[in-house]
Amino acid sequence: MIKQLNLSVHDVVDLVLRKGSLDTRVFNQSSMAEGTRLHSVFQKGQNSNYIAEYPLNAYIDVDDYVFYLNGRADGVIHQEDIWIIDEIKTTVEKIELFHLENEEWHLGQAIFYAYMLSLEKTLDKVYVRLTYIHQKSEEENQIFEKAYTFAELETYVFDVLRSYIEYVKKIEARIKDRNESISNFDFPYEQMRSGQDEMIKFASDIVASNSVGYVEAPTGIGKTSSALFPYIKSLVQPGKEKIFYLTSKNSIKESVFKLLYYMIAKGLKVTSVFLTSKDTLCINDKKRHCNPDECPFAVGYYDKVNKVIFQELENREIFTQGDILAIAKEYNICPFEFQLDLSMYVDIVVGDYNYVFDPTASLIRYFEDGFKKPYLLLVDEAHNLPSRTREMYSAELSIFDFLKLKKEMPNINSRKIKSLTNKLIDYFKDYECSSDHVELECVPDDLEDMLSEFLERAKTVIKDFPKEVNDTFLDVYFKVNSFLNLPQEDTDNFAYYFVASEGKALSIKITCLDSRRYIRRQTAMFSSALFFSATLSPHNFYIDLLGGNDESNTLYLPSPFALENRLVMVDGNISTFYKDRERSLKEIAKLIVEVVKQKVGNYFVFFPSYEYMEKCYSLFEYTTSIDILTQNRNMDNYERSNFLSSFKENPKKTTVGFIIMGGIFSEGIDLLSDRLIGAIIIGVCLPKISYENDLIKKHEGLEDSDVGFNYAYVYPGFNRVLQAAGRVIRSEKDKGVIVLVDSRFRTSKYKELYENIWPDAIEVNSASEAGEYTSQFWEEKK
Ligand code: SF4
Repeated sequence: MIKQLNLSVHDVVDLVLRKGSLDTRVFNQSSMAEGTRLHSVFQKGQNSNYIAEYPLNAYIDVDDYVFYLNGRADGVIHQEDIWIIDEIKTTVEKIELFHLENEEWHLGQAIFYAYMLSLEKTLDKVYVRLTYIHQKSEEENQIFEKAYTFAELETYVFDVLRSYIEYVKKIEARIKDRNESISNFDFPYEQMRSGQDEMIKFASDIVASNSVGYVEAPTGIGKTSSALFPYIKSLVQPGKEKIFYLTSKNSIKESVFKLLYYMIAKGLKVTSVFLTSKDTLCINDKKRHCNPDECPFAVGYYDKVNKVIFQELENREIFTQGDILAIAKEYNICPFEFQLDLSMYVDIVVGDYNYVFDPTASLIRYFEDGFKKPYLLLVDEAHNLPSRTREMYSAELSIFDFLKLKKEMPNINSRKIKSLTNKLIDYFKDYECSSDHVELECVPDDLEDMLSEFLERAKTVIKDFPKEVNDTFLDVYFKVNSFLNLPQEDTDNFAYYFVASEGKALSIKITCLDSRRYIRRQTAMFSSALFFSATLSPHNFYIDLLGGNDESNTLYLPSPFALENRLVMVDGNISTFYKDRERSLKEIAKLIVEVVKQKVGNYFVFFPSYEYMEKCYSLFEYTTSIDILTQNRNMDNYERSNFLSSFKENPKKTTVGFIIMGGIFSEGIDLLSDRLIGAIIIGVCLPKISYENDLIKKHEGLEDSDVGFNYAYVYPGFNRVLQAAGRVIRSEKDKGVIVLVDSRFRTSKYKELYENIWPDAIEVNSASEAGEYTSQFWEEKK
């Protein structure tokens, strides 16, 4: 049977012809951006015979395959009966060397275009030209020009396509096997949980209709399997090639791993890779020095990687961080780049949001052409995506970066970079600021010029003196690079300002005020997307921030656990406004005692700040009947798990954890059964009043200032309340008490928010009343 493959010329030549070493001094985002600019300058400088960005496509029959190839030649020159394909390459490396190292790859691309042009125009002969431009000197060099007959072109193209077919056959065999296993695969658990069937049905409809959906699925529904199962089932359909499962939490990656492992054990044959950051994966002594002169794992990377990928795909289905590292060490290849290249051939890519949503994303290879892809997107804990995306589109440069660089300047003989560093330090020092934040319309031109020059010079240093470059230099280089590479076109979507102290500028910031458009833009690249979280409340707020609207497909599921297993109380008599905190401490302490004394067990009390928490703790210092453990600043993983291990099952003594709202214990903590039987939440958890949050408030509140305040403060704060409260009931066996404490819970705005979630919440007016309800609740649960 003849099979059709729709591919770009890049797809084919990159796989078959790319050879050599990894070298980020030559291939990096900034050199690519500069390359695009120089392409365009060169093309504009040509005469009228030169047709820039010439689109080409062709059907090519080779053996049992029809290739539908498409691409864009950088230039086609037509003069009388002479036709020339011009392939432009720019580099920071010496042109001759660059050409030598990449000749086969570059020439191959040009020959493909020449062949496609000869088919389109029925030509017997086409010339091929490689134009090299140096990025610093802008020197041009037409290093190669040769005529090819149609027969020569065809022989070459067919040979390359036959090599490609060898890879295709391997992929096809695996996909055939995979699809059979998917078709025979049923939901892997014997029983569906309450709400799970609804979520599976919803996700199946979303993926089948190539649309976007939003799901709020409270803890206990099994949202990972409810999302992943229908999306995996859909992989057998045409136009659905790969799933990207994104999450910001390691605990969720762990659940995805366990689920895939379980499904594979039950016969499913899907492959997956779990992506890890470069800093974590790098195994070179000089981290991030990704070039063949300094990293043995970069040497000959492209000569080896394809063989390793296809060989390893025969050995295993799941590639974890440990697997990636082991394979990289065995074959002497860079683990970071290997996992990204491997991701092209697996069915499920699991990673952080940034792999898809960051403008400098490592997986940019999937999306750089801006076209919709046959890929499926699953975003877990989606309530975190808007703020994370905002951060990805924000940047800051501080005088301290350059002062540190000056102190730790590499031992290089570059007077220019030293003098630029001094100039940048002076720029901050001399910039007179009349307030602590000085708003700008954009990055000042003179500063931008200096930074651009710094970046260019830094690139030269990295290229010419790689062994001298230290981590501080690389850090500043990457920071300047990110700062200059933020989108230039959306200035209304960003705030630009100096942060100052005592009239002197300390840093310059670019703050993204609204991530909707970037979330929407990336989502549009996928044929289907599902955003889900245990708490997407308030609904309209999150759907809007995630790029949806009133018409969006939504599913809001109730908690699957019995309502009578939890008691929710709201104490609106205690003010937690900053000015009232001293006064309210005793009342809070009394409330805590009244609630926890009703039943021996483990409780969390969530505070809005360390200061407030510590003051409250001092009131309990001499109490002996309750153990109080406090969250410390900067707890590491070991201290964190030690802290949690104090909350044991079947406790004989009451233990209360004093926790910071929105911190490491507020999300993703599963203390099942009686490891946690109560949460007292002090305050409405507004994010800190800050200049940045006020900017968001202003931006969102252009039409209605109340909306701005809600978006910047109230709703994100209320989501933290929900996250904290959500720690208590994690399974059908869990029982517990939730108390919200703040006078603002009496206002209609907050009432509406919490009554939507807990319509049965009881308002209490004193600590003793809360104690009575709690006692009654536990009495009934005996
Ligand atoms: S091992 Fe580290 S330094 Fe070497 S190429 Fe990979 S990421 Fe770069």
